Amino acid sequence: MEYDQHVHTYFSFDSQAQFEDYLRKTSQPFITTEHLELSNPDDNGGDDAPDQAAYTAKLQELKRRYPNRLLRGIECGYFAPRQADLQRYLQAQDFDLVLLSFHHDGQYDYQDPHFKQVDLKRHVQTYYDRMLAGLKAAPFGDVLAHFDYGLRILDVTPAQLEAWAKPQLQAILALIVKRQLAFEVNTKSMYQWGNAELYELVLPWYREAGGALVTLGSDAHTADKFLTGFAEAKALIRSAGFSQLAMYQGHQPHLTTF
Ligand SMILES: [Zn+2]
Ligand SMILES: [Zn+2]
Repeated sequence: MEYDQHVHTYFSFDSQAQFEDYLRKTSQPFITTEHLELSNPDDNGGDDAPDQAAYTAKLQELKRRYPNRLLRGIECGYFAPRQADLQRYLQAQDFDLVLLSFHHDGQYDYQDPHFKQVDLKRHVQTYYDRMLAGLKAAPFGDVLAHFDYGLRILDVTPAQLEAWAKPQLQAILALIVKRQLAFEVNTKSMYQWGNAELYELVLPWYREAGGALVTLGSDAHTADKFLTGFAEAKALIRSAGFSQLAMYQGHQPHLTTF
């Protein structure tokens, strides 16, 4: 069984999607991963955290109509100065899956046009230095989500990424292997933001580092994006030498051959 493990609903600050919009499109389960984004520059520096009581109530209500279809996830946007707050929030709930993301630097979200003005090489290196430091410090997370988030709005070629950041990326991949975090293949990054080639470059590095946990997520914020690009992405994952995907429940990966 394969399901989408990166999906947003109206419990995220940047989505209006209803659970029912997604439920109508599949008979499989899926995991909603709402944004937990503290000090969010895309929201005037405010804290965005799903209302867990309302979220639980909604899941309970849907469970009656759609049994065994909804898993409970969250997308935790790492920000070092708020690590203790993030940890407190995550510990207070039972999640099936925690995505760990690097979305902002405290001043700008990495999709802000600001980053089109900065030195590209320095930006790429700074992004991965921060990611490595965050992964070293964060005691939580099941999956490293969209490793290329900080490059989405920029044109970074595979050759540039390799020349500028291969050692940092290899250290990141070795660390997630050691910590048993999965590597997410994010079809929004690949096919909406044009970064498929970067995944093609880095997936074999993950495998060489001993990685075996690959997840697949559409990062849908609207139902039309749900499960998109999965066939293409699976072909790319297969060509990197993987034949299994990790499906999470209760923080535990279950490997399924595809
Ligand atoms: Zn994200
Ligand atoms: Zn997301």
